[in-house]
Order: sequence, then C-alpha cells, then structure tokens
Amino acid sequence: MTEAGAIGLDIGGGSTKLGLISRDGKLLASRRVVLAEGADFPAILAQYRAAIADLGADGLPVGIAYPGHVDRVRGLGLNSNVPALDDHPLAAALGRGVLLNDADAAAVAEARHHPETRMLMVTLGTGIGVSMIIDGRPLETAGGTLGDSGHLNLDPSGRHRCRQGCTGCLESVASGEALARDATAMAGTGESPALVVELQASGTVSAAAACRAALAGDPGALSLVAQMADWLGMAVASWRASFHPDLIVFGGGLSALGQPFIDQIHDRADARSLPFLAAHCRLTLARLGNDAGMIGAGLAALAP
Ligand SMILES: [Zn+2]
Repeated sequence: MTEAGAIGLDIGGGSTKLGLISRDGKLLASRRVVLAEGADFPAILAQYRAAIADLGADGLPVGIAYPGHVDRVRGLGLNSNVPALDDHPLAAALGRGVLLNDADAAAVAEARHHPETRMLMVTLGTGIGVSMIIDGRPLETAGGTLGDSGHLNLDPSGRHRCRQGCTGCLESVASGEALARDATAMAGTGESPALVVELQASGTVSAAAACRAALAGDPGALSLVAQMADWLGMAVASWRASFHPDLIVFGGGLSALGQPFIDQIHDRADARSLPFLAAHCRLTLARLGNDAGMIGAGLAALAP
C-alpha cells in the first residue's frame, strides 16, 4: 500500500473535503465535513479534528486549501466565503499546518501532470480563479495569491458588475455567473429554443444548462460561448504578456465545454498575443477534477 504522507483540506462555502494524500500525490481516502449553520471557529475545528482522527491520520502534516486570501506570516486566512474561519490561526490549530489559496492548491496538483516549468491555471467556475505555478510552486504577488487576475478589466462598456464589485472585468463577462445571466436573458427573448425550454422548466438558466445546450449544438448557446471565448482570448494575451507561461490549463465547471472551446480561446488569443509568446505557449484542459484542491494542499504540506 502507498504510504500516507499528509492530510489535504479543501474548504468550500458549505462543506470541507479532507483527504489522505500519499507522498506521490495520490488520494488514498477522504471524508466530507458539512459545516453546521452558524458554526463558530472552535466548532468547525472540532469537526476537522474528528474527521482527521476518523481517517487515522493524527500527527500527519496538514495542508489547507483556503477559499480566500492567505496571510502566511500570521498563518491565517482572510476575505473568504467561510467568514467564521477568517482571522483565526487555523494552520497552528491543526498542528503542522500549511495554508495556501484554494486555486493555488488545485494548480499545484495539476502542474504535476504536465512537463512545462511555467504553468498558468484558469479555473472557470461561478467566478474566475487564476494561478501561476513555476517549478511546482505558486507565484504569489499579493494576499498569498496571484492577486486577483480574474478581474482583468476588458469590457469598455462596463455594463456588468462582477460579484466582487468591479465593472467590465473578465469575471463580469466570461464566468459561470455571466453565462447564466446572459443565457437567461437570451431565453427571455425567445432566440434560443433549448434555452427557452430550460427557462420554462426552471425559471432561470444555469451555466451548466447553457453548457449542455451549447454541447447539443443550440445556436444561441453557441454564440454565447463564442463571445466568452473572445473575452478569454483577450485575457490569455494579457496573462501571456504578464507571466510568460509555457502552458495555460483550463479547469472548473465551464471546462465541460471541452476542446472546441479551448480551440476557440486559442485562436482568439493567438490573434492578439505577442508573436513570440503565442509560439511557445499551448492551451489545454485540466486533467484533474474536484479532488485537485485536496491533493495540492496535501502536497504543499509535504513540500520541503
Ligand atoms: Zn471583477
């Protein structure tokens, strides 16, 4: 049996996944902890400790994928979607704990599956997360993250505001939230038969439903996807200029749109990028799915 090396915690808004991770990055066992409504820091900590004991992993180093900014000096997280954990010494409370941003944790795990030295990872979910890994380690510019690089400001009309509060940023036009908004609006005009059916059934159109409609060839949904690819191509050209990645990996829920979506982004990006950067930077889909955060957190705890 592969020897367990560390515990990886991936903290989400409503639940936390805890995984027993081997030294070579395999997930050996896992538990899911659902946070009780209104639970405070000591209560959550007790739940985490119980899950770690249940995995038979007391005493192992712990890596924590935090859904917000990270203050490494003080060993605590900030500005997360689990406010009860913010500003508390979570890493110290779990023993030999290491804290890193959750998008960075997923990228650490993903990077092990690609030979390139400089990998940028874009997570297209409700929002847009961006991480840069160089030689297996996350590049941190601010807040223990790559700043807020999903908020590149691109749309001159500034007609949409993202959930964090800026107008005209990439997240406001090319995230899961933006796709759901635009697909719901399109369904309301009757332009797309598949989206109209979805709107009538659910009262709204989710990003996942819009992706399914696009994959089934619905012209309206495909035009929304092409629009997103155009915005993402602009962003890729900017990220290439800022970070010189050899590889850009796309993960998150919207990566279900598959290779044709990546190819569209690639075309748009190459048309706008500095030629020498376009020539050596390929784009691809993420290999790992939802376990990447746990695995990357565990590996970070094992890093020398
Ligand atoms: Zn924004």
